[in-house]
Formats: sequence, C-alpha cells, structure tokens
Amino acid sequence: MSNPKSRGFFREAVALTSAVVRAMRITGLNLFRKPVTVHYPEKPRVYPDRYRGLLALTIDKETGEENCIGCRLCEFICPPAVIKVEMLKAEKRNYAKTFTLELYACEFCELCVQVCPTDAIVMTKSFDMATSDRRTMLLDKDRLHAIGLQYENSWGTGNRLRDMQAPPKKVAAPEAVEAPKAASAPAGGEA
Ligand code: SF4
Ligand code: SF4
Repeated sequence: MSNPKSRGFFREAVALTSAVVRAMRITGLNLFRKPVTVHYPEKPRVYPDRYRGLLALTIDKETGEENCIGCRLCEFICPPAVIKVEMLKAEKRNYAKTFTLELYACEFCELCVQVCPTDAIVMTKSFDMATSDRRTMLLDKDRLHAIGLQYENSWGTGNRLRDMQAPPKKVAAPEAVEAPKAASAPAGGEA
C-alpha cells in the first residue's frame, strides 16, 4: 500500500494536469473563433440604427434649406446648457442666425433631438472626432451642417421620438346598437 505522502502528490498532479487541459481547451477553442477586433479606421464600423453619436444639423434634401427655425427649444431643454441659438426672423419662416454647441460638455442625452419640431438637430452614426484640442469641439452652424452631410443620421428624430411616446390613438367607439322598434299597439286597444 502506498504511503499518504505519495497519494497526496498523485492527487495534486491530477488536479494540475486537469487544470492545464481545461485551460488549453479554452485556448484551442479561441484559436478558431472569429476575431471581434475591428481595424478601425481602415475598416469602418457598422453602427446600429439607433446609435447616438455626434450631433448634427440637417438640411431639407428637396429645397436645400436648413431645417432649423431658431426656436431655441433645444437650448432651453439642454441640461448642461451647451447649446446657444440666436433666432433670425424672416418673412416666411425663421432661421438660426447663430447656432453653437459645445460638444466637449455634451451628455449625449438626446433631449435636444426629442424636442426639435423640425427634425433639424439629430444624432449621427459616428463618434469620429477624437482630438487633443477642446476648441475644435466648439461647433458652429456650418460645422454642424457639415457633420450632418458627412455621416449617416441615426434613426431618432424629434418627430419619430415624440410619436413613440404619444399615448395610443383612440379606438373608434363601436356604433351604437340600434334599439329594437317598439312593438305596435295591439289591435282593438284604447278607443
Ligand atoms: S444631447 Fe443632451 S447634453 Fe447634448 S446638446 Fe443635446 S440636450 Fe444638450
Ligand atoms: S435645432 Fe430644432 S429645437 Fe433647436 S433651435 Fe433649431 S428648430 Fe429649434
């Protein structure tokens, strides 16, 4: 019969070997897995439709006019107060005379997008603005329009987001059931 010392050594050797085999199995499995690393920026990433990236201003594709009417709702709703808009009154519609957005302090909460009545401010499917100079992230109207043209816009627009939050539309009440006609008076009734 073997002594307890050699039994202990044997158990330890078995435990160690099985641990190494398990670890090697995981390594082996990962050798044949598809890599998840994307070689950005050589290979562009595919973002989901509702990705909330850089903010941008939009232009009406048909008329070429800017969609912003300078109403300042986005400025009033913005929690860190990073938007500043000056309205320019015009005959047919109003415009934003100036529009600035301090992107370096933006929380990406999307509230400005949600309140915009004309879908003028949107988020885009990009975060591509890494910089070591904060001043480049102070965006004016022209840069915001350029970002809107450069990157694909995200799904969320003010009108779509508000539609999602609206209470369900009222279902039309079923037509009143016609009351049965009163039975005709029995013949030979009251004279
Ligand atoms: S996403 Fe939020 S924090 Fe950023 S500008 Fe819009 S409202 Fe302000
Ligand atoms: S972006 Fe929209 S909410 Fe902001 S000022 Fe322009 S129209 Fe108004």
